[in-house]
Amino acid sequence: MFEKVLIANRGEIALRIHRACREMGIHTVAVHSTADANAMHVRLADESVCIGPPSSSQSYLNMPAILSAAIITGADAIHPGVGFLSENGNFATMVAEHGMTFIGPDPHHLEIMGDKVAAKDTVRELGIPLVPGSEGALTDDATAIRVADEIGYPVLVKAAAGGGGRGMKVAYSRDQIESALRMARNEARSAFGNDAVYIEKYLGHPRHIEVQVLGDRHGNVVHLGERDCSLQRRHQKILEEGPSPALNAEQREWIGNLAADACRRMGYHSAGTLEFLYEDGQFYFIEMNTRLQVEHPVTEAITGVDIVREQIRVAAGMPLAFEQADVRINGHAIECRINAEDPRTFIPSPGMVKDYHAPGGLDVRVDSGLYGGYRIPPYYDSLVAKLIVRGQSRNECLMRLRRALEEFVIEGITTTIPLHQDLIAAPAFVDGTYDIHWLSRFVAETSAS
Ligand code: ADP
Repeated sequence: MFEKVLIANRGEIALRIHRACREMGIHTVAVHSTADANAMHVRLADESVCIGPPSSSQSYLNMPAILSAAIITGADAIHPGVGFLSENGNFATMVAEHGMTFIGPDPHHLEIMGDKVAAKDTVRELGIPLVPGSEGALTDDATAIRVADEIGYPVLVKAAAGGGGRGMKVAYSRDQIESALRMARNEARSAFGNDAVYIEKYLGHPRHIEVQVLGDRHGNVVHLGERDCSLQRRHQKILEEGPSPALNAEQREWIGNLAADACRRMGYHSAGTLEFLYEDGQFYFIEMNTRLQVEHPVTEAITGVDIVREQIRVAAGMPLAFEQADVRINGHAIECRINAEDPRTFIPSPGMVKDYHAPGGLDVRVDSGLYGGYRIPPYYDSLVAKLIVRGQSRNECLMRLRRALEEFVIEGITTTIPLHQDLIAAPAFVDGTYDIHWLSRFVAETSAS
């Protein structure tokens, strides 16, 4: 097992990884920008190294600085967390070239799944259903228009190198396709330096359902059931739950086994997530995330599996600690992403946290680096806390979540806690009938009233 792990990330996820390491008796090295010198992940780590100025490109994305920090401190592995370098095949390769272990999959899998077109080709061959769409990237507009006509409107133009919902545009009819292509290409070029796009049928009322998988280097892959992440705003997840209220046990087993089997045949190891849209009883693969996900605690709450610990164990070459037959879904869990943002306008609200009190009690988990007197820097993602609540049933989970949100005190900044309170009281949420478009309509309606 590793003796020292460098955590190449910040915020609550860096803290999450630190916790897993400590429980395994592994020493931790935090890296931080000058803006994060007082962050909780830095305070709790055994050692810390400042790797650059506030801008992510010069700190958390600065590969030479991170590798130097790992070498100087004698780390034997690097955990990249989520975002930043977590899906960067070059970084994973460089870590290995410097004699350390990248806690994640093979660079080859990062590369395939990072290119959405290559990802689709790969999973198509493994028998996974896809959204009807273009086969391969579309370089010229004439072909793109022909493909859109064939699929039938509405269609979605997506960036091949996309992520975080950027580079996506809907064309509802033929006269919108040219501008959708232009806008998607421009956005993709500036966000990813690559303007290749592809086209998919735009689904009218799908849910976003994703399957968590875990694989080791000995050919074992298990799935840990699904999470429903349909509550999104601008393609960003806001609240996630598991199991999905839309699936029955048979569908759950079918999609879980399909995902695990595909990963086994790919030779995939580490944690991964296959994302699907689900509409009218059909699953359609959209992408695979080859890393830990922000919403992984939902799965941890209902399976009892420590996903980060398993990720570290398999990276060290150990076999998975359990088999598929050992995985039991127990109860229901919901995660609320609490952002330092105005709950109506979503304008970021960084600044000083004057008072902080996290909720507690049975089956209530808070992953957050906040503390009273901490100043949230304005340079990074606005996610500041995740509240994860479990109950024996969905109803018990909802009652407990309502209580926990009431208890949560974060003073000095505005947060999205009131949005979550409104969301979980809405009838479409309570009865579980929402789809991916529901939240935007809900926000628009409640802001107008
Ligand atoms: P990204 O990598 O940018 O997050 P995804 O392909 O994962 O892009 O899609 C993000 C979100 O966009 C999905 O969760 C869903 O809400 C929406 N979306 C993606 N594809 C479609 C589609 N074909 N029809 C309708 N909505 C879609």
